[in-house]
Amino acid sequence: MKGALSAGLAVAGMPFAGGSPVRADFRSDPFTLGVASGEPASDGFVIWTRLAPLPLNLYGGMAAVPVSAAWDVATDAAMKQVVRSGEAIARPELAHSIHVEVAGLEPARDYFYRFRVPGYDSPVGRARTFPAPGAAVTQLRFALAGCQAWEGGYYTAWRAIAEENFDFVFHYGDYIYEYRHITKERDGRPVPREMPENFRTCYTLTDYRRRYALYKTDPDLQAAHASCAFLPSFDDHDVTDNWASDSDPAATPPEAFLFRRAAAFQAWYEHMPMRASALPHGPDIAAYRNLRYGALADVAVLDTRQYRSRQPCHDGLRANCADAALPTRTMMGEREERWLAEVLRTTPCTWQVLAQQVMFAQFDWRAMPWVKPSPDPLRRMDGWDGATAGRDRVMAMFSAARSANPVVLTGDAHFAVAFDLKEDWTEPKSRTLGVEFLATSISSGGDGSVTFANAGEILRNNPHVKFIGNERGYCRHAVTDKHWQADYRVVERISVAGAPVSTRKSLAVEAGRPGLVDA
Ligand code: FE
Ligand code: CA
Repeated sequence: MKGALSAGLAVAGMPFAGGSPVRADFRSDPFTLGVASGEPASDGFVIWTRLAPLPLNLYGGMAAVPVSAAWDVATDAAMKQVVRSGEAIARPELAHSIHVEVAGLEPARDYFYRFRVPGYDSPVGRARTFPAPGAAVTQLRFALAGCQAWEGGYYTAWRAIAEENFDFVFHYGDYIYEYRHITKERDGRPVPREMPENFRTCYTLTDYRRRYALYKTDPDLQAAHASCAFLPSFDDHDVTDNWASDSDPAATPPEAFLFRRAAAFQAWYEHMPMRASALPHGPDIAAYRNLRYGALADVAVLDTRQYRSRQPCHDGLRANCADAALPTRTMMGEREERWLAEVLRTTPCTWQVLAQQVMFAQFDWRAMPWVKPSPDPLRRMDGWDGATAGRDRVMAMFSAARSANPVVLTGDAHFAVAFDLKEDWTEPKSRTLGVEFLATSISSGGDGSVTFANAGEILRNNPHVKFIGNERGYCRHAVTDKHWQADYRVVERISVAGAPVSTRKSLAVEAGRPGLVDA
């Protein structure tokens, strides 16, 4: 029995007294995974930590008992002016994670928070409340980021984000990759960072928990989380590559795959600063929602995985896949589509933001360096090109709601691209209904290059593309009621730590005039 108690935690008294929380004596710092905040509202936000003195060990080095921890929210970084505080219970059922929904705060101001257990204080995090509903906003600044293969490179982009003191970060998923330990990347180069050898492909809750723990030990990622609130979402690798609804590319029977999805969602919830409304129920999680930023922006965070149709024509890049256009095909399912239509119809905000995961605009992948020549346009079946009727319905929502300023935010591709969203994709002169900013990746896909060798041909194949680049980084946004500016921030290389970060390209949209212009 003694061996079952952890190396990191000594429990005062014995842990057999039912489920009452214990005040634990930690032998080492339990805050190895940092702190985070998320889901900001005008009166509060979620604060998060996970007690894990030995983060890569089973149970994070914790004994299987509930443990209490104190939390404080203050108006100053020195934590002198505490305005809210309480006790939270870290439970073994949820990997000793703590999610506190702090409320009763003032709108549009900075707060600071930390957690405490006897002998150890967590780092201090900053979070900013949203403006009051309908309030005028001078400027919103946020980052669009995701796709962060840990072994793929250093999190220099997260360090740069941490230094920006953003209002929030929207994370488009691939927070983890489920792949097994590797020593070389696909191109044969050694990985800049090697996972522990016993990291297998993630299937079980323990596998996913250890993967999140490894990723979250990174100091740059911790700094980004401590710097501002996140709006988390998940994409495919948070479960497994290119899963769709209840299926995966290996054609695993749904009844088996759903156990894996349940494990992945539980670990995702445990490690994200999400509200209790996103607690998974078995393999299901309620992850789509909208957050209104004063009168300025209505941010609809989409779930484009859980309710989508399976990729048509056996996935991949396909020419002339007739099934992709079937009216029954969807990226969101009927309920989520109805919800989004209602959000767009009723929003009082200037900008209508779709914060989501996979490429929304039509895109011809011919001339991308790794793609074989094709006489006909090649479309990616895992994105909205694989469910064009679903995309048409969203474009129709923009029209029906008279959305003056739709902005789609995207990740997944591991390169940077910006689009005008066209009423008729085949006619460059047709009306532009909105724009899409697709950020690159934090660390997935290697060092990259400033651009693609045949970028000219790619742009000729895709006249609605206004920028394309192949570096790692994130997309920085500064938004007023008149103007939206996006800066494509790039890291010189990710194979070494601490490389320089700069702006590769700036694009802008004027409110009421959909379409990208150089900034
Ligand atoms: Fe990715
Ligand atoms: Ca994928």
